[in-house]
Amino acid sequence: MADNKKRDYYEVLGVSKNATEDEIKKAYKKLAIKYHPDRNPDDKEAEAKFKEAAEAYDVLHDPQKRARYDQFGFAGMDGAGGFQGASMSMDDIFSMFGDIFGGHGGFDFGGFGSGFGSGFGGGFGGGFGGGARQQHRGSDLNLRVKLTLKECHTGVTKKFKVKKQVTCPHCHGSGAENGAGDKQTCSTCQGRGFVMKTRQTMLGMMQTQNVCPTCGGEGTIIRNKCHQCGGQGIVAGDEVVEVKIPAGVGDGMVLNLNGKGNAAIHNGVPGDIKVYIEVENDEQFVRQDNDLIYNLLIDVPTAILGGSVEVPTIDGKVKVKITPGTQPGKVLRLRGKGMPAVQGYGYGYGDEIVNISVYIPDNVSREEREALEKMQQSDNFKPSAATKSSFFSKFRQMFE
Ligand SMILES: [Zn+2]
Ligand SMILES: [Zn+2]
Repeated sequence: MADNKKRDYYEVLGVSKNATEDEIKKAYKKLAIKYHPDRNPDDKEAEAKFKEAAEAYDVLHDPQKRARYDQFGFAGMDGAGGFQGASMSMDDIFSMFGDIFGGHGGFDFGGFGSGFGSGFGGGFGGGFGGGARQQHRGSDLNLRVKLTLKECHTGVTKKFKVKKQVTCPHCHGSGAENGAGDKQTCSTCQGRGFVMKTRQTMLGMMQTQNVCPTCGGEGTIIRNKCHQCGGQGIVAGDEVVEVKIPAGVGDGMVLNLNGKGNAAIHNGVPGDIKVYIEVENDEQFVRQDNDLIYNLLIDVPTAILGGSVEVPTIDGKVKVKITPGTQPGKVLRLRGKGMPAVQGYGYGYGDEIVNISVYIPDNVSREEREALEKMQQSDNFKPSAATKSSFFSKFRQMFE
C-alpha cells in the first residue's frame, strides 16, 4: 500500500496538525460537497479528490488512527484497521458519511473503520441506484420461537410464514407505474437529495444542508405512481422464512435475520427479523449454562449395596455405577453429556451432573418392618461420633 504520491492527510483537508475534531469535520464536509460526484459527473479528478478527502477524514476524525498517523505516517495506516473505502463506489462512501449529510434513515454504521466490516454486511445490495441519495429502511419484525431442550441440543431449522411488507410485484419497488420512464430528477434539488440553505448568523453567512422537501432525499420524483402500491414500492404480503437455529441456543437468546424484515420504500434497505428463543421446560433436565442437571432417585438397598443403574442423557441412556454406601446428595459428573457451546464446534460441551437422591418408601410390609427393626438394632446403622462430625463439617461448608 506504500504510495509515494500520497499527500499528507492534513494537507488534503487543509487543516493544521493540531486542528480540532470539529475543524476536521467541517473541512471534510466542504471538500466532500465540492467534489461530490453529482456536481462533477464523469470528472475523474474530482472523484479522486473526493476519495482522498474521505480517506483523510477517516483517519483524522478517529483519535486512535490519528495518533498512529501522527507517529508513523502512512506506514501506520497499512494492514488491519487501515482505510478500506478508497476502492468503494461513490455511493458507498457517500452513504457512509451519512451523518454529515443529513442522515440515511437511521442506518447505523457502527463507527466507520473498526465496525465497518461487520456493520456494513448484508442487505445493502443494489439499493443505491439512479442517483438516489436518501436510503429508506424497512422496519424490523419480531418472531418468537419455542424450542424443546432436545432441539437446542442438536440445533434445528424452522420455517415460518411471516406477514410482512414485500416489494411491490407490479413496479418491482420503484413505485412508478410504467417503470423508469415515470421517474424524473427532482427539480428542487437537481437530484442531489438535499438542498443548501444559506442564512445570516452572528458569525456571518452559514450554509446548512437539509433533506430535500420535495423528494424526501431520494433525488427523484414519480410522475405516474404505481396503482398497486400507491408509489411506495411496497405492499402487504408474506414470505416463508427459514430460521437456522444453531445448537446450544438457550432461553432468552435473540437471533438476527439480516434483511428478512419489512421491505423498505423504493427498494431501500430491508429491516431484520429478530428471533426470540423460548425453551420449554424439560421433563428430565434442568439446564445451568451448558450443564444439564439430572436428579437420580435410587432405592435404599442400591444405596447401601451399590449396583449399576440407567441414567438418561440428552442423547440416549447410559449405565452408571453406584458405589456401595452412596449417600444422598452425592454428585456424579458425566463429561461432555451437557449442551454444546452456542459458539460452535471446538468450544466443547457441558456436562451432565447427576445428583443422587435415595427413595424412602412411606409404608412397608410386615416382613420389611421386621427386617428394618433388625437393622435398627445393629450398631453399623448408627453413625459414630466421628461420622457425625465429618457430616457436619460438610453441611457447614454449604453455608460458607
Ligand atoms: Zn408498485
Ligand atoms: Zn429533491
